[in-house]
Order: sequence, then structure tokens, then C-alpha cells
Amino acid sequence: MTDAPVIGVLALQGDVREHLIALAAADAVARPVRRPEELAEVDGLVIPGGESTTISKLAVLFGVMEPLRARVHAGMPVYGTCAGMIMLADKILDPRSGQETVGGIDMIVRRNAFGRQNESFEAAVDVRGIDGHPVEGVFIRAPWVESVGAGAEVLAEHGGHIVAVRQGNALATSFHPELTGDHRVHSLFVDMVHANRATES
Ligand code: GLN
Repeated sequence: MTDAPVIGVLALQGDVREHLIALAAADAVARPVRRPEELAEVDGLVIPGGESTTISKLAVLFGVMEPLRARVHAGMPVYGTCAGMIMLADKILDPRSGQETVGGIDMIVRRNAFGRQNESFEAAVDVRGIDGHPVEGVFIRAPWVESVGAGAEVLAEHGGHIVAVRQGNALATSFHPELTGDHRVHSLFVDMVHANRATES
């Protein structure tokens, strides 16, 4: 019997479709989530890359910010890439006005830390917990993590900067594995969702 977890992708702005495809390839049932009722039905959630201020404002507008905070703080597995990483940070070093985060990871992020859009790049990144060859990291106006608190585990660094972090059921990467066709990071997240369901049942 297959028992695929249902994993949502926060579909307010950003590269939603690529995450839906990557999650399906990693054997999850993937669905877009915009509203609190949709959030209530998923076992885990991905917050995609895009523009974190826009995602933050739309999340408030759609009434999904507070329910999302509540679920993340209650331990729902969540994975944020790039702008999604910013959304999971307890603190942003340089927030735009009105920019809120969901929080969940005790870290301070710096937005656009790796430079502008035309300074986007790819690099091989060794990620703790991912076996085999390094992950191809696609960095697009990517944030980095300035510092993490005691509860957060650094999973990867690039150029001396933290680019992947996990704290409990929350995972965040500065880069975009959903754009590469390599689904190992999504598989790691799907495993986290399976493990969490096992503790809940
Ligand atoms: N720099 C963007 C932000 O601040 C993130 C870019 C991305 O998600 N590719 O939200």
C-alpha cells in the first residue's frame, strides 16, 4: 500500500509549479495552498522562492499568515527555498517595511546577500544528510544566514556563508533544488514529513 504524504506548496507568488513537480517526483501528493482551509489539509508545506516581501504581504492578505505560524510552531514540517528561507527566519537583518516572517528557525538572514539578479550563479554544495555527489545549488538573488541560534543545525555552507539550515521539522535552503531535476533535497523533506506523521499517529 502506498501512503504518500500530502504536501502543499504556498502558492501566493514564486516558483510554485517547479516545487509541485519536484515533490511529485519525490513520491508526495503535491498541491497548491492559498487559503487556511487548504493549509489545514496538508501534512507539510513548501514555501517557494520568489520575492519574500510579496509573499509576506499576500500571506497576510489571504489570511494564511497566522494559521501558518500556528502550524509551524505546532511542528508541521516546512521547507523554504530562498524567499521561503527568509519566511522561516525568526529575524531578517534588513526587512522591507511591512515585511513579516512566519519564523520557525532561530536564525538571522540577510536578503539578497549574494548580490543582484545578474549576479546569480550555480555552485556545488555539500549538504549534510544528502548522500552522494554535492547538490547543484542555484542561487538567484539569494539570502544567506548571518547566524543561527543553539537549536538550529547548519547543513551547508558556501563561500564561508551558511546556506542550508534545519531546526526540528523546519528546513531552509538559500538555493533552489526545485530547478535542477535533482530531487534529493525534496526527498529529504518528504522523509521528514513521513517521520512526523509516524510520531503523530
Ligand atoms: N531576494 C529575494 C527576496 O528577498 C529572494 C529571491 C529568490 O527567492 N530567488 O525575497
